[in-house]
Amino acid sequence: MMNVLDAQDVLKTYFGYDQFRSGQTELIEMALNQENALGIMPTGGGKSICYQIPGLLLDGTAIIISPLISLMKDQVDSLEQIGIHATYINSTLSKEDYMNRMHLIREGVFNFVYVAPERFMSEHFLSLMKQIDVSFLAFDEAHCISQWGHDFRPSYRSIIPVLNELDHIPFKLGLTATATPEVIQDIQSLLTIDHNHVINTGFKRDNLHFHLVKGQDKDRFILDFIEKHKQESGIIYAPTRKLVDSVHGLLLQKGYKAAHYHAGLSEDIRRREQSKFINDEKTIMVATNAFGMGIDKSNVRFVIHHSLPMNIEAYYQEAGRAGRDGEPSDCILLFSGQDTQLQKFLIEQSGLSDEKKVQEYKKLQAMVNYCHTENCLSAYMLDYFNDPNRYGECGHCTNCTHTDEKIDRTQDAQMILSCVMRMDQKFGAGLTAKVLKGSKDQKVKQFRFDHLSTYGLMRNKTEKEITQFIHFLVAEGYLTTGDSKFPTLQLTAKAAAVLKGERAVYMRQVTIQEADASDYDTK
Ligand code: ADP
Repeated sequence: MMNVLDAQDVLKTYFGYDQFRSGQTELIEMALNQENALGIMPTGGGKSICYQIPGLLLDGTAIIISPLISLMKDQVDSLEQIGIHATYINSTLSKEDYMNRMHLIREGVFNFVYVAPERFMSEHFLSLMKQIDVSFLAFDEAHCISQWGHDFRPSYRSIIPVLNELDHIPFKLGLTATATPEVIQDIQSLLTIDHNHVINTGFKRDNLHFHLVKGQDKDRFILDFIEKHKQESGIIYAPTRKLVDSVHGLLLQKGYKAAHYHAGLSEDIRRREQSKFINDEKTIMVATNAFGMGIDKSNVRFVIHHSLPMNIEAYYQEAGRAGRDGEPSDCILLFSGQDTQLQKFLIEQSGLSDEKKVQEYKKLQAMVNYCHTENCLSAYMLDYFNDPNRYGECGHCTNCTHTDEKIDRTQDAQMILSCVMRMDQKFGAGLTAKVLKGSKDQKVKQFRFDHLSTYGLMRNKTEKEITQFIHFLVAEGYLTTGDSKFPTLQLTAKAAAVLKGERAVYMRQVTIQEADASDYDTK
């Protein structure tokens, strides 16, 4: 009879570790009892061992379903390196290689077989599954199975009906690092997992320092930050391919070793860029969210988001690619009011059902609220996930560390707000900035805005500075950009109070108190 002592032995012999981490013992025990279970652990928490140890101790072959084929080879290689027989089956194999591996699987050679979810659509593969002794199925990145998850993969979900045909498989494990309460419930019902078989160690990552930067020139910020962190590895996420190309170009032009990655690049280039980044040949990766899932690079010291992500789940997962080695790392979100507009546009264009769109808007709102909260940023996100261990303030995010130094910008705000009012709240930030700058632009004249009392009121500032300050006012909720396709600036109740002189507008001095070891040791 298998027990936890055997598991402890395997932990030491194969992996060289003395103790299980929080959550691992419970999950492994359930697996050894052949009971369905779901493990929710932070990135770097040690999820792999939760299926690897049962896979070694139980008879038969463990089938690991993973949505990411790019990761399978690495996982198989690292198991082989410690003397464990493993293989993977995916669409990158030649026919001959595929047949050969299928043959060896039938022979029972492997302890572990990694497969992509699509494999379960193949009759050939299914018939093999029915013939061999499978110890269990493990669903890695299990949140992809839920349509409430931010990374829903229909191919993952379509395994569920097929499971009826595979009822000889004793049990199933699910593992994930990002799951809201709805997603957890969905996974439980799809994989039939009891409430008391859900092991949630929480998502908290003490070594991540979250920073929020508003109303600053984003390119300037990135260049300054990178200059100070030349020796470090980091990821910069941008929301569009065009923006990735532009930030990447900027970094190359300044002589930094930067890679880039987005779905518009050929597979070959993507693979090369990714491997250069992983091997530290290029220290910075500029990418869309197409990059990163399953990337196991432990020394990523910072993740900068150039713009608002679509929701907290996506943000926490992307930012969480920093600091997998447990060392202090910075997660910086550069926010400007107009970012929201792009995300709304993406939701509109997504082709989702109306019901799903409402859901996405709600999630986006929670992300926007993150940018407005004055409370601890880390606690805000853990609250969002309903984390079982919400331990109060992190002590190192922007909101926990800000000094009270603020600049009174009430006068600038009043100029902008009254200009928006005089332009009948029908135009965007660009034209408003032109009017305040006193530009001779054709459009300004066409609408006779050069006759407004606010025309040229801020001529001592650059158009870019004015635009940025407008975005700050949007970010702080003095202006909204409306729901129409074109972002037109509109005043809020807060703006009315500023115009009446009843409310002052302060801009906080943002200084990034960067994560460093001494800082961390005191926690
Ligand atoms: P994730 O949860 O992100 O999949 P991994 O399974 O890749 O995390 O584990 C992250 C790191 O932690 C790996 O280097 C792994 O070897 C290590 N690890 C896992 N379990 C333990 C343990 N009990 N003691 C020490 N290190 C561990």
